[in-house]
Amino acid sequence: MKESSNPFTYAPAPESRELVSIESSYDLFIDGKFIAPKSKKRFPSINPATEEVLSKISLGGKEDLDLAVKSARRAYEKVWSKLPGKERGKYLYRIARLMQERAREFAVLETLDNGKPIRETRDTDIPLAIQHFFYHAGWADKLEYAGHGSNPRAHGVVGQIIPWNFPLLMLAWKVAPALATGNTVVLKPAETTSLTALLFAQVCLDAGLPAGVINIVTGDGTTGASLIAHKGIDKFAFTGSTEVGKAINRALAATGRPVTLELGGKGANIVFEDAAIDQAVEGIVQGIFFNQGHVCCAGSRLLLQENIHDHFIEKLERRIEKIRVGDPMDKNTDLGAINSKEQLQKIVELTQSGEVEGAKAWQPDCALPSRGFWFRPTIFTNVTGAHRIAREEIFGPVLSVLTFRTPQEAIEKANNTPYGLAAGVWSEKGSRILWASRELKAGVIWANTYNKFDAASPFGGYKESGWGREGGRHGLLPYLTQSQTPRVRSGKGARK
Ligand code: NAP
Ligand code: MG
Repeated sequence: MKESSNPFTYAPAPESRELVSIESSYDLFIDGKFIAPKSKKRFPSINPATEEVLSKISLGGKEDLDLAVKSARRAYEKVWSKLPGKERGKYLYRIARLMQERAREFAVLETLDNGKPIRETRDTDIPLAIQHFFYHAGWADKLEYAGHGSNPRAHGVVGQIIPWNFPLLMLAWKVAPALATGNTVVLKPAETTSLTALLFAQVCLDAGLPAGVINIVTGDGTTGASLIAHKGIDKFAFTGSTEVGKAINRALAATGRPVTLELGGKGANIVFEDAAIDQAVEGIVQGIFFNQGHVCCAGSRLLLQENIHDHFIEKLERRIEKIRVGDPMDKNTDLGAINSKEQLQKIVELTQSGEVEGAKAWQPDCALPSRGFWFRPTIFTNVTGAHRIAREEIFGPVLSVLTFRTPQEAIEKANNTPYGLAAGVWSEKGSRILWASRELKAGVIWANTYNKFDAASPFGGYKESGWGREGGRHGLLPYLTQSQTPRVRSGKGARK
């Protein structure tokens, strides 16, 4: 980092890698056991900050998925669907407590496998994942209040596919509501980040979760496609790109099997002239550089009222110069490694298009490690709504800045996107915030803050950002169906 811009230096503060022991290879987790893949194929999982191979992960094929689906069906019919909600809840509480005990281990493993800073895995990913299990444990015996009538039923076997940006947290968003509502699960983690899912499998074993209630079939996109094609699954849940979400939707069309889709975004962060500027600068930095910008709801478009543009950009650049980029295991690091070479190439390609199309790029002059995948925090000014960097999801630490003159123009520009996942409004005026929140077409709208999450708060999108909600009471609904036959209630929360 430039000496002139940052006179403060930090001594290294590395977290200990000794907290985790990583096997040289991992099997699939099916029917309560780790078993070698029938496909006989494995692929490396690397640490994107160093390119070191951490382990070899099993590539689940069709035969492996058959076994996993059969095991989930057996567990559903013989055990899980027969347990009253309060008993299922006890397993979820136990899982949450075991995750809590191993929180540091999960944080280190996630940082090594994903490249995100230890500060974020330790303070955000892992605590939120645990919170999802505690929260949903509380719902397991109260489903009659979820909004599907007095006796809602599980679908049966659920197929779930998750991305690499918040590996354990996305697992928790999927698995916790599925189990609380009485479904059993076949889950496919993302190819580059399977390790915390496999540690979670160990936690399920330690919690005594009945065999087959959760099956984890690691693999690549072909494993995901085979899971979607599997006839033995009753309901699907997918988080990932809009492109793959659309393909999944096409594959499931007219099969009658429900799917929830949590897809991409191009969130607008709107700063009005009356906003508390320093607070807004901090929020914009959080909104785009948290998790290297690998965030579906990232505030990747900054909409500034024209008369504060120059002043705001000056402050923003000064703040970005202080961002510490580097070793994700260092507790001082703000911005870690890009998750994969492919993702880095995508970020480079899109930022190059920004320059070619006439936007102006700015980056701090910070040093980057020589190995691994890195990208400096970047802001583009002179951006118009026609530029690719204003329309496409970059999924990296790159902010596109646009301007507006009137509140109406701000809303029109913010809504001028095929996505609709999240947005932010910065203003001192409560009535303006309420008005803007009503006009913005986004599933989540933050006011004078950004990137705040809670297990009790539903999350999900409009338009090409997908459908269905995760979290809160609304997040339970996709995992439940109305009961066909009304039952005689046999006690609060008991399910037959
Ligand atoms: P992705 O390429 O769509 O992959 C997501 C998952 O789907 C991965 O497990 C992937 O496996 C699998 N997959 C790939 N091709 C498939 C296919 N044809 N059929 C079934 N599954 C398939 O997305 P990503 O790059 O991992 O994640 C980034 C995207 O996720 C971004 O667009 C981001 O906005 C979105 N996201 C959305 C939310 C939300 O809540 N809305 C949250 C987080 C992320 P492999 O990894 O093995 O390829
Ligand atoms: Mg990895």
